[in-house]
Amino acid sequence: ADYVYGPGRTHLFVPGPVNIPDQVLRAMNRQNEDYRSPAIPAMTKILLEDVKKIFKTTTGTIFMIPTTGTGAWESALTNTLSPGDRIVSFLIGQFSLLWIDQQQRLGFNVDVVESEWGRGADLDVLEAKLRDDTAHTIKAIAIVHNETATGVTNDLTKVRKLLDTYRHPALLLVDGVSSICALDFRMDEWGVDVALTGSQKALSLPTGMGIVCAGPRAIEASKTATSRRVFFDWKDYLRTYNLGTYWPYTPSIQLLYGLRAALDLIFEEGLDNIIKRHNRLGTATRLAVQAWGLKNCTQKEEWFSDTVTAVVVPPYIDSNEIVKQAWKRYNLSLGLGLNKISGKVFRIGHLGNLNELQLLGCLSGVEMVLKDVGYPVKLGSGVGAAAAYLSNFTPFIPSRI
Ligand code: PLP
Repeated sequence: ADYVYGPGRTHLFVPGPVNIPDQVLRAMNRQNEDYRSPAIPAMTKILLEDVKKIFKTTTGTIFMIPTTGTGAWESALTNTLSPGDRIVSFLIGQFSLLWIDQQQRLGFNVDVVESEWGRGADLDVLEAKLRDDTAHTIKAIAIVHNETATGVTNDLTKVRKLLDTYRHPALLLVDGVSSICALDFRMDEWGVDVALTGSQKALSLPTGMGIVCAGPRAIEASKTATSRRVFFDWKDYLRTYNLGTYWPYTPSIQLLYGLRAALDLIFEEGLDNIIKRHNRLGTATRLAVQAWGLKNCTQKEEWFSDTVTAVVVPPYIDSNEIVKQAWKRYNLSLGLGLNKISGKVFRIGHLGNLNELQLLGCLSGVEMVLKDVGYPVKLGSGVGAAAAYLSNFTPFIPSRI
């Protein structure tokens, strides 16, 4: 039974953890197995190859670690860097803030480049730093591809271009937690050295698997990086890859079968179709926000996120109240405003295994709640704007054409 029961389906619209497809739930409903039997290594070998496809890499090495996004961050940092190493990092919202905090607590020397929340990474500052750093003291650029707290997507191609322009060898470390498998992401083409995600986001699995993809330069760096690491040491994984046993310690059998099922669904729909679907859901959400007369927290179109929209409420409304009432009345889960934008924004997560009608359900719930909290909204306005767009642009379901 639910801990706090609500009838019908929960409309889960937080930007992670997200809805798990029924096919994946069924695939995970199974016994434990001996991970040293031939079956699990055989399955793992194929999973490691297939996971590369969602990073768009052929040269990367995958590490599937029993952890969350936060552990994946730590894995990326400690395997490639040494204490005191200089990192350039962009503070644009709560998740980039937390990653920077981790970088500092791990003993790195972080140049924090701050932007107003709602804006993207300040690449002019990055350019100036790269231009000045002829001695190559900057060892890594750490950037969150999609800042989940504000709904801001950074343009990684611009970062790559700057590194190339100044022929700077810094490693490019990318948090793709709320982007990979939902937004356009190209590890090899964009020269990303380490990219990472968590199972509970666009992969639409339960929480518990941090997936890290290390490019050749990162693997090379890990051979000399002296940061202390034990649980996250890539060396332990690489040893078992060579042995063909694949696991230095016990994997979650259920998550492996879940991942297999999730990837099967992803490949059936097609990664590029998934990216287009997220663009449709993101665009429809933004049209609804506009129709309600509310502001998107994201200040410029170039940063609009197709996985999460942070909506700014007028000063006389507490956005926490919106989130509370949505859950209490309509069994709708929305994202809170985090840290300094608490009370000022609420977030609609539109990532993972989700379709157009689910989104319209969410948007109609948001409208009702806006009315409930005293905002003068015309019921149907946002839903109407979103539906008008979706009815024009929703293609046939790829497997049903
Ligand atoms: N990075 C981003 C962009 C996130 O959105 C999150 C969580 O929402 C994290 C990192 C941290 O991931 P986790 O909560 O799985 O540790």
